[in-house]
Parts: sequence; structure tokens; C-alpha cells
Amino acid sequence: MRIRNTVLLAAVLAAAPVAAQDPWTVRAPAPQGLSRADAEATTLRHLQNLIRINTQNPPGNEIRTAMYFDSVLSGVPGVETRILRVPEDTTRANFIARLRAANPRQKPVLVMGHMDVVGADTAKWETDPFTPTLRDGYLYGRGAIDDKGMLAATLTALVQLAQQRNRLDRDIIFFATAGEEGGPPVGVDWVIEHHRDLIGEAEFALNEGGRIRVQDGAIRTVNIQTTEKVYYNVVATATGPSGHGSVPLPGNALAALARAVSRVHEWRAPVRLIETTRIYFQRLAAIEQDPEVKRAMEALTAPGASPQQIDQAAAVLSRDPLHAAVLRAGTSLTLLNGGFRSNVIPSEGRATFNVRVVPGEDVTQIVRMMNEVGGEPQVTFALEGEPAQAPPPSPVSTELFQAMEAAARTMAPSATVLPFMSTGATDGAALRAIGIPTYGILPMPLPMEDELRMHGDNERVPVPALGWATEYIYRVLRQVAS
Ligand SMILES: [Zn+2]
Repeated sequence: MRIRNTVLLAAVLAAAPVAAQDPWTVRAPAPQGLSRADAEATTLRHLQNLIRINTQNPPGNEIRTAMYFDSVLSGVPGVETRILRVPEDTTRANFIARLRAANPRQKPVLVMGHMDVVGADTAKWETDPFTPTLRDGYLYGRGAIDDKGMLAATLTALVQLAQQRNRLDRDIIFFATAGEEGGPPVGVDWVIEHHRDLIGEAEFALNEGGRIRVQDGAIRTVNIQTTEKVYYNVVATATGPSGHGSVPLPGNALAALARAVSRVHEWRAPVRLIETTRIYFQRLAAIEQDPEVKRAMEALTAPGASPQQIDQAAAVLSRDPLHAAVLRAGTSLTLLNGGFRSNVIPSEGRATFNVRVVPGEDVTQIVRMMNEVGGEPQVTFALEGEPAQAPPPSPVSTELFQAMEAAARTMAPSATVLPFMSTGATDGAALRAIGIPTYGILPMPLPMEDELRMHGDNERVPVPALGWATEYIYRVLRQVAS
């Protein structure tokens, strides 16, 4: 995931209690063919090995992880492996393994994860980020939750499923990508361009991007990402007369920029609900503790709600920045540039808004509204780049979504399953764009204080969450492929 909230992160990390109870023990019997003790131990071992391989991006160096996967899977009966080196930079590679079903009657299912990780501020870490460290029931290391935990769980599940390939009626494709955390397009886009035949026939796919949330020692929600917001930048350019700092000018470009920018910052784009977010708020209403928020969620999604009722409900929900970002296009001020000398009035200034629109929403309309709201003749808001066609949200009716929902209900009966639009971007959009419905999950159930360490300092995963994750992936794939 590429979205961060460092303010929230700092606030939550200051508190950081350890979960009082164990939300990772599953009461249901283990699925046939899976040893729970073995699943946890093997996934832990793989994850330790993956953390030890430094794939900080840049430079990425994913070839070493690809070779690790190859060494684990190439001898497994029924599994074919491919390392796809990027010719322009052979330290970068993608990896594909295909488990051949004995009776392939349906199209393959794909599981994707990224091998690169973001950098780490080693001075702020309590452990070496690239030395996997077990402490108080957690495994610490860069990538423990983003995204090496899911890769390790998938690897373990795949080896177990290979022993049962006589029962399988779909091939399972494991696709580990490079370059997800920024940089040149050496990952999913490169593979789609050069090796589409290796993944393109998949019926649907599983990727990162969702959440399994633990609160008060129990799994509360299983958020399955079916779509994501679409990323743009909008640049406000202010112009005005230049002059000597000793003679104040009423048309100062930076002052006009400041006025327009602060108006747009205060403004909220119109509410835009889609199927995913409508079901999301409907289901969240059922478990919401705060009566006012619960009523707002119900009012927002009530059939026949008037625009006025929707706006009132949205105003209540928008007190939570995460809800506010799910309800509408988000416009975050991220860069301000202007001036070059303290004694010169500059003739130009710029501000950049990072704008994330809801899929299907016309970004040019948002830019038009930003110009209106800005309300300064000297300031023009313009889209950087071209408007792109957003891939359609993946439907909740597919066999894969239903298998994900069923596995969640079996393993965490008290949890609510939510289709989920992530506000951040993932590789899932690239698969949706070529017609593969893609569902995001982060299969380790995590308390918020651990989830928010993603991309932050002291990233860690509770060790029992790894066994849970492996069982979840195993159950989903087994159900969908047999
Ligand atoms: Zn990620």
C-alpha cells in the first residue's frame, strides 16, 4: 500500500498496548490437509528469510527474492516456476509459479504480492529492519506486514495445496511483483506488457489492499478491497505582478494563492457513493457503537434518502478523516512552491493538491469545482496529466469474493465482512484494468496499532497472525479451485 497517515501513526504508536486476548485462535476445525502448527512455523520461517533479503525500493533488488521463491517451489510436483528478469535492470525481476490442477475445468485463480519494500529510518527502529527479530510474540522487520507476510503465507499455502492437486479443478498462479513501492514500471505493468499470457487468462485475483481488523482482542471486520480511489495531482498556479519587496502590491501572487488554497482546503467535494461504499456503510452501521454515527450510516444508505439527508449524514461521518475520504473525492494540499528571495515579490506561485477520486467520477468536474471554490481570478487549478479511465470495481458476486467471505465467517464468526474501497493505490488496479476482478486482503488480523506501522518504524507482525493468514489463504484457494 502506498498510503500513509503519519500523524495518526505517531498518535497511535505512543499508546501501543499489546492485545489482551488472542484473536488468532480459530475455533473451527482445521481444514483438511492443513496442519496449523506446521502452517505457522513454516510461514514464520519463510517470512524471516524474506525479511533478511533486503528489497528496499529503490533499488529493489527483487531478483534475490524471486530466486528464493524459485528455490522453494521449483522441486514441488505440479508446480512450474518462471523468473522474469527485466532486461534493462537485471537486479529487478518478477516471479510466477503455476500450480497445475489435475483436472483443470475452470480458469486459473491468481494470487499476487509485491516483493519490494519501502526504506526504513534505521535510527528510529529498535531493531535492524533487515534482521528478522522475534520479541514478545512479534516478528519485527521491514515488510513483515507490507507485503512479505502475505507472500510467506501464500508460499506456505501453495506448497500444501500442491499435495492435493488431484482435487483441484483450477490452476493457481502465484505472481510476485517488483517495483510496487514506486520507481520505474518494472512490476505488474511490465509483466502485463511483456508476459500477459502468463497471467491474463486468470478468472480473478487476490492481492494486498484489504484489512482484517482486531479490536479489544477480537476480529471485528474483514475488509475486502474491491476497488480503490484513482490518483491525480491538481496544480494551482497563481500569477501577479513582480516587484521590489519594499513596495507592497495588492495583486501579490502568493497572497492570492494562499487565499485560493485555503478555501479549497476547507471545501469538501460532493458525496459520491458506489455499490462498494454503500454496502460498506450499511454493514458498518450494524456494529457501530456510537448512536449518532450509527444513525448517520443508516441515513446515508437508506433507500430514497434525499440529497439533503445524505449531506447531513455525511457531515457527521466526516468527523472521522477516514470516513470523509471514503465518501467523496479527497483533495489534500501537499506542496507549496513560491518565491526565491525575501526581498522580491515573485510573479508566480504554485500549490499541488493530491486528488483521489471515486472510481467512475469525472476528475475534470472536480477540477472545475476547485476553480470555482478557489475564487481567485489570478489562480488557475489544472489537472497534471490526462484523465484516465478507472477500472470497474470488482463485483461482490464472484466465486472468489464469496470464498473470501465464507472463509472469514468460518474463521472469525463474530466478524463483519465488508467490501472496501481503499483510499490508497495498489497493483490491483492494473489487473482490474485488464478485466481480472481483483480482491484485496491483508490476511493477517492486526490491531490498528500494528496496521499503522506499515511503512513506519518498527513494523511487526504478531506471530500467531501468520498461521491465521496461511489458513485463510489456504481455505480461500482450496474452495475456489476445487
Ligand atoms: Zn504493499
